[in-house]
Amino acid sequence: MTKTEKILLKRGIRPTQMRSKIYKFLKRKQSAVSLSDLKKAFVQNSETNKTANRTTFYRNLKIFEDKGLIHQINDGTGMAKFAVSDENLKSKYGTDLHMHFHCTDCRKTICLPNRISEESLPDDYELSDVNLVLKGRCEKCRQK
Ligand SMILES: [Zn+2]
Ligand SMILES: [Zn+2]
Repeated sequence: MTKTEKILLKRGIRPTQMRSKIYKFLKRKQSAVSLSDLKKAFVQNSETNKTANRTTFYRNLKIFEDKGLIHQINDGTGMAKFAVSDENLKSKYGTDLHMHFHCTDCRKTICLPNRISEESLPDDYELSDVNLVLKGRCEKCRQK
């Protein structure tokens, strides 16, 4: 069994070839990947049946999100982006609570290591979505 297959199984996801590929693709990236880039890699450029592939692709993304393997980030660009969640960190909300940084120059979005306190929410409140994005210029763009 490969390392990727083990990670998928740990999250309760049955490993398939496409799932392993999507996970590795996201894991390799230093920044969050937009839905259109993912589609380019897994739907448009695939040699097999595109319609069947698109359906499987969207289902896989949904499973990944539901199982907490990846998370979606809305950075204000209007395009959903995805990043792999930290497998060791889980809050009582069942999700990995952290901030993001969006560079307004190169339009890259990254996960920041800073964790959000679980105490931010008053007792008896229920969390359903997290969208924390700091905006500015990244290190590379500042050096230009
Ligand atoms: Zn930048
Ligand atoms: Zn993130």
